[in-house]
Amino acid sequence: MAKLKDKVVIITGGVSGIGAASAELFAEEGAKLVLVDMNEELGNSFVEELKGKGHEAIFMAADVTDHDRVKEVFETTRSTYGKLDILFNNAGIGEVKPSEELDYAEWRKTVEIDLDAVFYWSQFAIKEFLKSGGGVIVNTASMYGWVGSPGSAAYNAAKGGVINLTRSLGLEYAERHIRVNALCPGFIETPILGDTNREFLTNATPMKRLGTPEEMAKAALFLASDDSSFMTGNSLIVDGGYTAQ
Ligand code: NAP
Repeated sequence: MAKLKDKVVIITGGVSGIGAASAELFAEEGAKLVLVDMNEELGNSFVEELKGKGHEAIFMAADVTDHDRVKEVFETTRSTYGKLDILFNNAGIGEVKPSEELDYAEWRKTVEIDLDAVFYWSQFAIKEFLKSGGGVIVNTASMYGWVGSPGSAAYNAAKGGVINLTRSLGLEYAERHIRVNALCPGFIETPILGDTNREFLTNATPMKRLGTPEEMAKAALFLASDDSSFMTGNSLIVDGGYTAQ
């Protein structure tokens, strides 16, 4: 039995890295997708690829910090599929800079995308779920929400915020059939890593390799599906052992 049969899922950051791998896996498990991302060309071609494999998907270009556009995404989800079952808040940006050089606008941009938007999108989904009787939210945080690292103060603060936001929303809606959990990846081979030294990341990871987007997609599927039906307000760390050190 497909784990997400006929489930309607919004995935932000859904056409690259972890989001794209999750879109593929969720579609294979029967989900109907609304993929949100910045790159329109990439988004449209990815959706055509999914449709070519017999899956149901639409793409909506959006900056997750654009409040008007969020409203449009939820309206289009409703008009296209008639409902929403799962929100996967996955879009994010990294930031690597010594803290003494990070100006306030850079701090705000990271926190706005990596934390503020997670709340705002969740609020829209929760309103839908309260009307429909329930739903699931999965937030991509990071192992860097659990431990610190030098030179990524805004990112680490935002991801730590996502983990406690996840706890708080999970508790707030636990009795109302809305589950909220976070995925906390370690170093995963995706475009967000940019030109970061792969040898350094590999050596820092106890399993001595980077994770793959497909491995994250499997963890996201666990959190999005009924396989995690007794789990809320919690985080799943998938990091090759990094935070066990
Ligand atoms: P990715 O391939 O760069 O995917 C992130 C996606 O989010 C990109 O498509 C990006 O679009 C999109 N995005 C960025 N800002 C956006 C905005 N304002 N509005 C809409 N979309 C936006 O990297 P990824 O590794 O899959 O990242 C997915 C999530 O995993 C992120 O939240 C990231 O923080 C988290 N994570 C990743 C790692 C890792 O090592 N890869 C580790 C821990 C956590 P553009 O490419 O056009 O900017």
